[in-house]
Amino acid sequence: MSDERPVGPVDTTRVPRFAAPPTFALLPRLEDVGGRCDVAVVGVPFDAGTTYRPGARFGPAAVRAGSRLLRPYHPELDVAPFGTVQVADAGDVACTPFAIAEAVPAIADAAGALLERAGALVALGGDHTIALPLLRAVAARHGPVALLHFDAHLDTWDTYFGAAYTHGTPFRRAFEEGLVDVDALCHVGIRGPLYGVDDLVEDARMGFAVVTAADVLREGPDAVAAGLRERVGARPLYVSVDVDALDPAHAPGTGTPEAGGLTSRELLAILRALRGLRLVGGDVVEVAPAYDHAEITAIAAAHVAYDLVSLLALAPGR
Ligand code: MN
Ligand code: MN
Repeated sequence: MSDERPVGPVDTTRVPRFAAPPTFALLPRLEDVGGRCDVAVVGVPFDAGTTYRPGARFGPAAVRAGSRLLRPYHPELDVAPFGTVQVADAGDVACTPFAIAEAVPAIADAAGALLERAGALVALGGDHTIALPLLRAVAARHGPVALLHFDAHLDTWDTYFGAAYTHGTPFRRAFEEGLVDVDALCHVGIRGPLYGVDDLVEDARMGFAVVTAADVLREGPDAVAAGLRERVGARPLYVSVDVDALDPAHAPGTGTPEAGGLTSRELLAILRALRGLRLVGGDVVEVAPAYDHAEITAIAAAHVAYDLVSLLALAPGR
């Protein structure tokens, strides 16, 4: 953190929220704060890895629009993140929509370059493919990280139609590349039909624990979070949130919806109970606004991103 006071969002007592420039939470752009910041919010509008409904390339713009109503003080975490650290909107990563094998390293390079100027990134997807290059950039700085992965789906499958890099495979690739700490991996929100029981066997072999959506219902967010905290410990932590961890009632605007998911209240309660962990980065992905209604999904994702920024502002040893 620099000695200067952080530059905060647009003063909404002077400029109406709906009239301000469309950055995340009305924050300054990275170039408006001297090109350096503590936490950068960055869009990754890539969706060529989707298997069902496409459209998450429009996620970053939708989440920024859904973030206009975020205010600067987070009462549950008792932090004003934008006054505690310098947070800025770094715009969107430009990458080809035609070639996944080109886009993945391009995203990793862009994230790595941005981490030269920002202490940590919160990425707005984009489909879940982007978690792999983001983890490459994060692991290059921090080494293998603990991973808490909120999703209806395991995303540890091997290939689809022979393709190794898709939104259903990022965490198997991350495991193979040694980007994650195999003693501290957990999925949260898992539900819905699988191809077979081997999906779970393979996933467990990679070291993942699973907290299902039904577990969240039975145990409650605080007990779930206590288990996650124990698993992560003092390790550097990456949090990846597929918005389809939420029930379609709370996030209809996504590519592969599954019934029986978390409420946004449950998801945010779990995230907030991670306060004090050594978060080093995160993402919220799979917002596909063409299937959204009344910005339900975009607003939920904006709150997730706000909580990730707040947890980063509070993280020790950042
Ligand atoms: Mn998913
Ligand atoms: Mn996913």
